[in-house]
Formats: sequence, structure tokens, C-alpha cells
Amino acid sequence: MYVRKTKIVCTIGPASYDRKIIRSLIKNGMDVARLNFSHGTHEDHFAVAQNVRQEAFKLGRNTAILQDLQGIKIRVAMVEKGAVTLKTGSSIKLMPGYNESNKDVIYISYPALLTDVNKGDFILLDDGLLRLCITKKENDYLVAEIHEGGILKSKKGVNLPSSRTTLSAFTEKDRKDLLYGIELGVDYVAISFVRSSDDIKIIKNWAKKKNLTLPPFIAKIEKPEALDNIQEILDIVDGIMVARGDLGVELPTERVPIIQKMLIEEANKKGKLVITATQMLESMKEHSRPTRAEATDVANAVLDGTDALMLSAETAAGKFPVQSLVMMDTIIRHTETMLFNRIGRFYRMEKNFPEAIAVVANESAQDTNAKAIIVFTHSGFTAKLLSKLKPKVPIVSFTPDQKVQRAMSLFWGTTAMTLETHDVTILDEVFMKTVEKKLIKEGFIQRGDNVVFAASSPFLGKANIVRLHKVV
Ligand code: PEP
Repeated sequence: MYVRKTKIVCTIGPASYDRKIIRSLIKNGMDVARLNFSHGTHEDHFAVAQNVRQEAFKLGRNTAILQDLQGIKIRVAMVEKGAVTLKTGSSIKLMPGYNESNKDVIYISYPALLTDVNKGDFILLDDGLLRLCITKKENDYLVAEIHEGGILKSKKGVNLPSSRTTLSAFTEKDRKDLLYGIELGVDYVAISFVRSSDDIKIIKNWAKKKNLTLPPFIAKIEKPEALDNIQEILDIVDGIMVARGDLGVELPTERVPIIQKMLIEEANKKGKLVITATQMLESMKEHSRPTRAEATDVANAVLDGTDALMLSAETAAGKFPVQSLVMMDTIIRHTETMLFNRIGRFYRMEKNFPEAIAVVANESAQDTNAKAIIVFTHSGFTAKLLSKLKPKVPIVSFTPDQKVQRAMSLFWGTTAMTLETHDVTILDEVFMKTVEKKLIKEGFIQRGDNVVFAASSPFLGKANIVRLHKVV
């Protein structure tokens, strides 16, 4: 049995709200369902969360839920008659606010527009398709020359790549949404437009005052400032997302491939999770097969050493949500089996008991041709360390905590299961027989196979045991 190692995150939207589609996504290998809080109502997200939990339970699958907060997404207000043509070479006024825009003035939903944007700064509209440059700054408006014109429709996105934005990335809407996400019991929360560790600290302090327990954080890297501050961001979060959509607008598109490789490498060095996102199989929104370039993009992200790949519009709004997932799964499996030795790189982590145990478990598995590495973990920490070493064989991770089990669905190469009881004498004969039986039943091992166990004794401590074992 081959267990796919790189995980798949599927964004759920109108194309996949249907319970049957969610069931089919789970059946076909969705590891994490992403609820995109830039769209949909709380009722929509509630229904999806219920369906994911219930269908995963019925199918016996471990599927996590990732809440993606909108953050400070800047947009053009409504536009007169729905669309206006901006002519290249002409000038236009820009004002903060939500009034109806027209051919003379565009209203932009960013209250600090007049303080944060300066003469010479660029303003990009509609994913960078329209390009403006500020030529004049007055007390209550800006004037911009249109460098690349086109048709501007209502509510299109605005990017300010050359301006230092000062407003908090954690908006009033995000506060309400995060409170709702905590109520739903989401397993991860993604924070949009993070610029520095301060953006994360604001959320942590807010939660502390309210006495809230936060889900693990994924910082979306999509602003140039985040690249300058990537080490301090990595230090404070559980993982990052290479959010190539906005990143490729805020920065020249040609920089995205190398930034992707750099971000994956830095996250792996620090033992943090990394998800590579956006436009991976974009053409499958309309077609049942991807382009060769898209297939190559998926394979390359796997070889870069990403923990997970994300489908966005393909599963949220496309015509072929399930086929997109199946295609991604097939490309990943083929890449992993053909070029395993080229995946990512191995980084020696700091030397403490759990790190040393992970390294020894991985090396022992190779030396003894073991068929699986079995980890017993309370917090998932040892499993994450092992997963970052990218063992060739599956990691099977047991935990007593269902929340930890779900969080591990994002760990590369890891299949997570729950232990039936907290009251275990770890690695004693009865315990080993129970675990062996389960692993044989699930198809991970057969009688006669070698396996490696990593655990802690006492069970609540840090990992301190590696045991080599032959299944008889
Ligand atoms: C992105 O910009 O790549 C991204 C993942 O964010 P969103 O889908 O929220 O725009």
C-alpha cells in the first residue's frame, strides 16, 4: 500500500458545498478542508464544517478544517453601472470610502489611503491587471496616472505593493470570524496579509485578554514586508502558506518561483508547516484535465519539499472539483514514487531529546528496512519533527487527543490515529499487540515486517525511546 506523503488542502465553496461532493472529496483524499472567510456566510461555513466532520467520521478519515481569515483585503467600492473603462495615459482621482466609483473618481475601502500612499507609489487593481501610479497627493484625495488601463468592475481587489500599510491585518470582521471559528472548533487558522510577527502578537494578545484557546496559526505570506521578516514570523507561528495569488501581484510575477523555494526551505529548516497555494490546477476550473505546466507546477512544489498543496477556485468554484483533487493526488503520487530522493532537503535540528529521537527513528527505519515508523505523541510534536525528516516509509502517529489527531492531517507523510485509552503502559506486550493488530488491519504492515517505535516514558513526557521491533 502506498500512502501519499504530501497533503492536499481543498477550498470549499459553491462548487463543493453539496454534502455528496464533500463526501467524495474526503473519500478521494482531501486532508484539510479550507473555509475561506473572504466569501460565504457563517451559516455556509457552519454547514460545511458539520458535513466535513460527519462525513469524515462515517468514512473513518482524519480530515482537518482550516479557517482562512480575510484580513485587510482592500477593494474598489461599487462601480457606476457595474463597470467603468480606465483609459491608459489619463488621470483619475482616488479617495478612501465606499461611495459609488465612476470614470472620474475611484473609492477604495482602505481608511488609511491618504496617509499610507505617497506620490510615486503604484496602485494595482483587479489582480494587477490595471496599473496606476500616484502623481499628486492632496488633503482629501490622490491623483493617479493610469499606466495600464482596462475595464474596472465593482469590488475588484486593490494592492498597494510600494506602500507601507499601517492598519492592523486583524480587522473587526476577522475578530468576529475567528470567534466563530473557535466555536466551530476549527483545527487551524490562516492569517492573511501578515507583515511581521507583530501582526500575530496582536491576535495572541487579544485572545489572551478574552481567555480564548487559539487554533494553530498559519501565516499567509503575500506581502513584500513578510519576506523581510520571515524568520520572526516563522518563530511565532505553526506554519506558513505560500499565498502565490496576492504574492504575485504585490511582487513581480517572475519572483514567485524562487520565493516559493526559499519559503519552503526556511519553513523546513525551522520545523514549521508549509502549504503551497493558488492556481496549481487553475485551468481545471473549466476543463477536466490540467495543462502540462500545471502538472509540472504540482510536481515541482512536491520536490521543493512542501508539506501540503492547496486547491482554491478549482474545488471552490470550478466545474470539476473532485476531478481536480484526483488529478492532484495522482500527480503527487507519481512524483513521490519516481523521485523520492529529490524531495526537499534534510536539516539537522537543534539537539534535544525529541529531535535526537526523531533522527534515530528515521535512520533506524532506513537501516533495518522497516515498513513504518510508529509514533506515540500527546501534542503531535514528535510526529512533526519526524515528518520534517521526510522518511521514506509512512509515519503512523497515535495520540489520545482527537484535536491533535486532526491537526496531524497536515503533517507530511503522517497518518494519525487515536489511542482508545489514556491509561496505557506504553510499549508493554498487551499494548504492542493491540497496535500491531491495528496496523496490520489498516494495511501498513504485515507479519514478518520490521517497524520502528518512537515514544516517551512516562507517556506524558518528551520522546525518549526508540524501539526496533519485528512483527511476528
Ligand atoms: C493567495 O493570495 O494566494 C491566497 C491563498 O489568498 P486568497 O485565496 O485568500 O486570496
